[in-house]
Amino acid sequence: MAGNIIELKNITRRFEDDGSIAVKDFNLSVGRGEFVTFLGPSGCGKTTTLRMIAGFDTPTEGEILLNGKDITVLPPNKRPINTVFQRYALFPHMNIFENIAFGLKLKKLPREEVIKKVKHVLDLVDLEGFEERSVSTLSGGQQQRIAIARALVNEPEILLLDEPLGALDLKMRKEMQIELKAMHQQLGITFIYVTHDQEEALTMSDKIVVMNRGTIQQIGTPEDIYNEPKNAFVADFIGESNIFKGIMTGKLKVRFCGGEFECMDDVDEGTLVDVVVRPEDVILSAPGDGVVKGTVTAVTFKGMHYEITVESGKYEMVIVSTKAQKVGDEVGMSLDPDGIHIMIAEDHITRFEASVTADYKLDYNGKTINCDLLSVIPGSRMKDGVLTDSSGQAIDTDKIKINVSIQPGDIEMSDDVEAGLTHGRIINLIYKGDHYCYVIRTAHGHDLIVDDEYLWNMGDQVGLILPEDKMSFALKK
Ligand code: ADP
Ligand code: MG
Repeated sequence: MAGNIIELKNITRRFEDDGSIAVKDFNLSVGRGEFVTFLGPSGCGKTTTLRMIAGFDTPTEGEILLNGKDITVLPPNKRPINTVFQRYALFPHMNIFENIAFGLKLKKLPREEVIKKVKHVLDLVDLEGFEERSVSTLSGGQQQRIAIARALVNEPEILLLDEPLGALDLKMRKEMQIELKAMHQQLGITFIYVTHDQEEALTMSDKIVVMNRGTIQQIGTPEDIYNEPKNAFVADFIGESNIFKGIMTGKLKVRFCGGEFECMDDVDEGTLVDVVVRPEDVILSAPGDGVVKGTVTAVTFKGMHYEITVESGKYEMVIVSTKAQKVGDEVGMSLDPDGIHIMIAEDHITRFEASVTADYKLDYNGKTINCDLLSVIPGSRMKDGVLTDSSGQAIDTDKIKINVSIQPGDIEMSDDVEAGLTHGRIINLIYKGDHYCYVIRTAHGHDLIVDDEYLWNMGDQVGLILPEDKMSFALKK
């Protein structure tokens, strides 16, 4: 396709030794001159993808095209691509000139030309006249500029940068972000940049590729990714947000966080959704004037604004406001319809936290759940009736919590409120073709979603039976 310099088609990288997959079915087109950023948590496959583009690694499946030609197995030195790594990897025994000229000397260029080119790239990275300096006299930021100059001196069509600012302090990093962006504009070449820092990605990129566990979550401009995250992972990873489980309760109506709100996303009634609310979109008011009310539990001054945490039942909302609040204040919270972003939920498992009793059972608000802690706590053992960790130390049960999860369809309702683990009142019901989907506000302040084939009435008090064999358990980190 015209305009694309690099295309990755169905790239998968599997490691033979352990069968693990670092990158899975990765598809991406990079336009000529674009600034594209791979963004994702550590271990999500960013470096592996970059290495395949550079030619240091080969995909197990798929192909890589450069200007429309297959380069999947072309060696690195045959590609018009250079890489800048997080660790500068300068040669300590050579001066700056020799460090930068190293690649050119291998190409046997005339000395005059080498001198001219080195001078030119030193100008580019704002270190003119540094030719004779030794590497050890440079600061971290200056060393990284030299590493960039060394990559640029080869006049690559594509510059790959793998967390190049990761080793610098915050102030230096901010400065270098601006300089790199200016350099990109000045040079007009393609930059593929890797970072795990969402702010860095948002400020620098034309296009962001959000990755998680080897797969692309979303590709878009910084504005797209921030304003229209495709799923809860992206929303959570990009900037501060509040994410709630919710359910569509009518046309442009959604229930979450213990209240019903009007929204702009036209999603079918009864659909289970993830709802994203940006902290700056929450409107604080007097307790009676909000859709939901809560108590301020924390206030932090951030220079330009306050970050305020409000607890409402089991829910917590982080709010950014220019007006201060006091811890302990009762406040109302509401949202404009365009302050609510709805995403179709990828899973709608009910989760709650249980504590561990002295006799190694779980406790949820005074009710007991049986759980095999040995299989939940990695490396744990039973020694003379005492639960120990892998080193034989007794585990302090007060210090651990267990996350319990269960599917909405596995929760049973009973008209005996004492019958199950918890009980609550039906606050919403929706017929979904072959079953009803209920929202039940529990006595403990949670809105649980329960699927049931029978019709109950709004307002009914029901017991909720959560079968132990349908629960899954995980140690809370
Ligand atoms: P990132 O750069 O996003 O932090 P990487 O691309 O370095 O992630 O790694 C992705 C995954 O692939 C990780 O789980 C990592 O442990 C694994 N991995 C990377 N290189 C190898 C290798 N040579 N052999 C086995 N697993 C690897
Ligand atoms: Mg990496």
